[in-house]
Amino acid sequence: MHIGIPKETRDGETRVAATPETVKKYVGGKHTVVVERGAGTAARYLDEAYEAAGATLGTAQDALGAELVMKVRAPSAAELPQMKSGSVVIGMLDPFDAEGIQQMAAAGLTGFALEAAPRITRAQSLDVLSSQANLAGYKAVLLAAHHYGRLIPMMMTAAGTLKAARAVVLGTGVAGLQAIATAKRLGAVVEASDVRPAAREQVESLGAKFIDVPFETDEEREIAQGTGGYARPMPPAWMARQAALVSERCKQADIVITTALIPGRPAPTLVSAETVAAMKPGSVLVDLAVERGGNCPLSEKGLVVEKHGVTIIGLTNLPGLVATDASALYARNIQDFLKLIINADGALAIQRDDEIVAACLVCEGGNVARRN
Ligand code: NAD
Repeated sequence: MHIGIPKETRDGETRVAATPETVKKYVGGKHTVVVERGAGTAARYLDEAYEAAGATLGTAQDALGAELVMKVRAPSAAELPQMKSGSVVIGMLDPFDAEGIQQMAAAGLTGFALEAAPRITRAQSLDVLSSQANLAGYKAVLLAAHHYGRLIPMMMTAAGTLKAARAVVLGTGVAGLQAIATAKRLGAVVEASDVRPAAREQVESLGAKFIDVPFETDEEREIAQGTGGYARPMPPAWMARQAALVSERCKQADIVITTALIPGRPAPTLVSAETVAAMKPGSVLVDLAVERGGNCPLSEKGLVVEKHGVTIIGLTNLPGLVATDASALYARNIQDFLKLIINADGALAIQRDDEIVAACLVCEGGNVARRN
């Protein structure tokens, strides 16, 4: 197949969907690859490295006009007209954005949104949500440490002892668990909360304390199990008890990292404005859910703001701040997915009955794929 790697055009997007490493594999596997000049520069992958891996360099039009286009973000309104009807696009295409998917369908594209892959063992190596959330969790703690005007570890010095920072992590999926691990490595005392009961063991195995919000009804217990590993919205009574406990823990904390998400819905509010007002001056809150409305109503998308003496970090695209590694992992995710839609001769052969392929397919033949 003829594969195109365009430069990402979304504001602040530094990642690229293929690296010289994966390009070399594609070229070795009977594909031809055209990389837009400068596509990898922001992620520190230079044009010469792509050429050395066997790609040709071209324009945006050359890359977007390929039979198979690898993207980080969904094609923009300016990119869509440059793509060929009947071509395949793989990327983080935002499967819940009905309008965006409709536009890709109308352009005649076959679209695979990798965020929609099921959370099953076989899908782990192509799981873009995990590969990127893991880095976001890591970077969130480093950002918090940078903005926190004190040290994280306990330190005994000749001039006196400094206390270890207290960190609270809310939502302990992939990003939250990595945030816990990173905060622990830096020497913080960490507490964490999640709605899914399975999270407790994972939190404790990382050496953090689980903030337990007891279930009072069978309904609460049942909803908390989630669906397919994902959380569901909890009843208001449970949310109110969680808010009270979280508020107590946040008042003691120096660093709060929030990562709670519910697929296809706005992020739940976990840290209220009143809680922020009661937090210690100089403390830092990183809201990783900001793109989906935020876990804190005071966080502002794309900004670092100070409210009631608390620094609130609402930066989006934290994986883009570690673009070299984020791209390397993302590119390998795509490479792994390709095996499900390409045959041994390098021709398109979409395995439609494969549950991963079926889940990721968002549009084909002018139609939006039916979502379950
Ligand atoms: P996510 O990004 O969708 O959500 C982050 C976390 O927020 C989740 O742990 C969720 O339970 C939590 N959350 C939601 N509402 C909350 C609330 N009110 N209070 C506290 N926490 C709340 O999660 P994710 O990182 O994408 O992981 C989702 C699931 O998928 C997890 O069970 C994870 O273990 C699983 N997973 C499986 C695989 C695999 O087997 N291939 C790979 C990655 C993740």
